Amino acid sequence: MKIAIAGAGISGAYLYRLLQNESEDEIHIYGHKHETKCGISPCAWGATGGFNELLEHVDLDPESYILQQLDHVIIDGTEIKVDIVTFNKPRLISDLLKDAAVYYTPLNTTKYDRVIDATGTSRTYLPPVENDLVLLCAQSRVRSDKPLGNLVSLGYIGYAWCFPLTDNVYHVGYGSINESSFHALSEICKIWKKDSYTVCACKGKIRITCPHHSTPFVDNIAIQGGSVSVWGIGEAIGCVGSLAGDGIVPGMKSAQLLLQHRDDPEKYTHSILHEFKWMKNERRVVDKIYRGERLGFGDAWVFKENARRAGMKIGLRQALGVLKRLGKSRSINEKTTC
Ligand SMILES: Cc1cc2nc3c(=O)[nH]c(=O)nc-3n(C[C@H](O)[C@H](O)[C@H](O)COP(=O)(O)OP(=O)(O)OC[C@H]3O[C@@H](n4cnc5c(N)ncnc54)[C@H](O)[C@@H]3O)c2cc1C
Repeated sequence: MKIAIAGAGISGAYLYRLLQNESEDEIHIYGHKHETKCGISPCAWGATGGFNELLEHVDLDPESYILQQLDHVIIDGTEIKVDIVTFNKPRLISDLLKDAAVYYTPLNTTKYDRVIDATGTSRTYLPPVENDLVLLCAQSRVRSDKPLGNLVSLGYIGYAWCFPLTDNVYHVGYGSINESSFHALSEICKIWKKDSYTVCACKGKIRITCPHHSTPFVDNIAIQGGSVSVWGIGEAIGCVGSLAGDGIVPGMKSAQLLLQHRDDPEKYTHSILHEFKWMKNERRVVDKIYRGERLGFGDAWVFKENARRAGMKIGLRQALGVLKRLGKSRSINEKTTC
C-alpha cells in the first residue's frame, strides 16, 4: 500500500515508525512547519502510564527521553502522590521520524491508497465532529534559579500547571473552557514564574470531546474517478482524557490499534471505543460540570479510577473536592475560549 500520514505530531510520528518497522508499505508523512523554538506544536511534555512500553515496542530506550520522574504534585496546596514523567517530546518525535522525509507541501490524496488523519485538533480529512469540545491553552518554558515545584491550580474546566523539565527549567501552562477562568489561571502562572526567565511561549488547543463523540474514525473521501479511505488516529479522533487533557500516550496507543486492525474499519472503531471507554465517562462528568449539575460520589469514582493511570493516589472525598473545584466560578453566559 501507498500510505500518506497527514500530521507529523506524536501520533503520526509513532505510526510512521510502527509501519516502517512492521509493514512493507510505502509511507509518506506530511507536516506543518512550526515557528516555535522547540519546532513542535502543541508543546506538551508530560506522560502517564504506558509510555515506557510504547517506546520499547519501537526499540527506543524510554530512559533516554525521560527528563524528570514526578512522584507528587501539589494541587491547590494539597500534596498528591503521582507517577508522571516529563520527557523530551521534540527529540522523541525527531527520532521516531529518523530517516523519514517529511513533506511540507499540500497532500495530493489522489496519489495514495490510504490517508491517515493525524492532524490533531484540525481533523483535516475526516468529517467535522458534532458536540466538539476544544479548549485553549497557553504554555511557556521558563528558567528559574530557585525551585518552582510541581504545581497544579484548578480553574473552571481547566487548570494551571508547573512541571519541571530539568533542575532549573519548567513548563508552566494553563487552559480552560471559559475566558475568565483562562485569564485567572494566567495570573496564577504569572505569580509562579515571576522571577524566571521565559525561554519560549506558545498557544495550543486540546480536544476533550472523547472518541465516543468523535466518530467516524474511518471515512472515504471522493477523488476524481473514485475515493480514498481516510483513517484517523490520536487527537483527530478524540483520544484525549477530558479531565486532565492527556493525549500523548493515548495517541500512540491509537496508532498501535490502527496497525492491529488495519484492514477492518469496524474492528478498529470498536477497539478504540473499547480501549478509551474511560474517556467517555470523563466526558460525561465534564458535561455535568458544564451544565452545572450536582456532582456525586459516582462522578468522583470516575476521576479516582482514571487518575490511577497517572499513578495518582487520591481518595473518593478528595476526588469529589477536585471535581467541585473544576465547576467553581461557573457562569453560564460566559464566552467559552474555543
Ligand atoms: C499546551 C498543551 C499542553 C499539553 N500537555 C500535555 C501533556 O503534558 N501530556 C499529555 O499527554 N498531553 C498533553 N497535551 C495534549 C497532547 O499534546 C495532544 O493530545 C497530543 O499531542 C496529540 O497528538 P497528535 O499527534 O494526535 O496531534 P498533534 O500533536 O496535534 O499533532 C498534529 C500535527 O499535525 C499537524 N497538522 C495539522 N493539520 C495538518 C495538515 N492539514 N497537514 C499536515 N499536518 C497537519 C499539526 O501542525 C501538528 O503538528 C497538551 C496539549 C496542549 C495544547
